[in-house]
Amino acid sequence: MNLREQKGLQIANQVRITKSGNLYLVPSQSGKGKYKVSADEQHCTCADYDFRRAKCKHIFAVEIAVRRESKTITETKPDGTTKTTITETVKVTRKTYPQVWPAYNAAQTQEKRLFQYLLHQLCQGVGSPAQHGAGQRRLPLEDMLFSMAFKVYSTVSGRRFMTDLRDAHGKGYTSKLPSYNSIFRYFESEMLTPHLQMLIEESSLPLATIEQDFAVDSSGFSTCRFFQWVDAKYTNPQLMDKREWVKVHLMCGVKTNVVTSVEISDRYAHDTKYFKPLVEATRQNFAMNQVSADKAYLSNTNLKTVASAQAMPYIPFKANSVANDKRHSALWKQMYHFYAYNQERFMSNYHKRSNVESTFMMIKAKFGDALRSKTKTAQINEALCKVLCHNICCLIQSMYELNLKPKFWAQVA
Ligand SMILES: [Zn+2]
Repeated sequence: MNLREQKGLQIANQVRITKSGNLYLVPSQSGKGKYKVSADEQHCTCADYDFRRAKCKHIFAVEIAVRRESKTITETKPDGTTKTTITETVKVTRKTYPQVWPAYNAAQTQEKRLFQYLLHQLCQGVGSPAQHGAGQRRLPLEDMLFSMAFKVYSTVSGRRFMTDLRDAHGKGYTSKLPSYNSIFRYFESEMLTPHLQMLIEESSLPLATIEQDFAVDSSGFSTCRFFQWVDAKYTNPQLMDKREWVKVHLMCGVKTNVVTSVEISDRYAHDTKYFKPLVEATRQNFAMNQVSADKAYLSNTNLKTVASAQAMPYIPFKANSVANDKRHSALWKQMYHFYAYNQERFMSNYHKRSNVESTFMMIKAKFGDALRSKTKTAQINEALCKVLCHNICCLIQSMYELNLKPKFWAQVA
């Protein structure tokens, strides 16, 4: 076993390797972000791979993790011969769009330039309201939204972001150059929240012909970068009370991970009631084929919401679910029977749900899982900006992989 292989084993033992599309995400050992590994292409985004173009510790770690998820069954036949079958668990057989490497690299190297271009195009569509009175003239709305989203994309502090913003202003992406104090004030503005939501929705529209299957989930963003949502939710509940959290509920397309609708709540809100508004917002823009969500979302109302959007709900039933209960609708019973008698088909569709986990992972890995803002309104706006930035990155990826040419707002195109 060589040194990299040993380290790979160590990584596979210590960290949770997750899957996003055809890529495996391996958290870096220093705790700074995640490396993307393609096991098929033997490719990794770390510096070691980049330099040597040879198998790095992350590729070894992924191979070990994949092997562990596979099960070898050896069966002895009556005639004494043995037959060995290897079954991969559902976790590694999830079907997604193939990742095309040259396209991926091109998208990464051009991303910042394209990001600004697309964000500018998007912001142009909001239309500034008329400025009343002789008081201090505010910056146009499109400049405010551009500055906020670009700030979140940069992930740096307000002062350090000014270099990026000055460049963007130089390229004509903002009509004026706001000060960093002004940008803080925009984040405090409740008026901008619905605009950010509208931009998120608009940024998903170029993918309307590509996405038909959707998934719903929620995740929290904390105001302390040392607190992580999964820890607070599953292992260390007292973290929940210690800091502010913003809970993001979202629906995404399972092919490109684009977020098609989003709702924000406080940390203790129940997920189930956010399901309906997410489905209803998405169905305005997309022809929905199916929606998957975990069993926390199971309810008569939620099943009906999906069915009335002419889509198929893939929400698993609970261990204590029974078919004949007066409280359950006919649809509930029908879905229960489908679930009970077509388990394999049900599960293969249900597993598209894991893409919504990847979506949260992508957002957090790229734009951080902590919020810098100090007040509730600013935190909500900041979280929405992360989602908007993610959507623009999904579009850029699709420009390279699917030859998409995104256009927004009929009049801007
Ligand atoms: Zn690597």
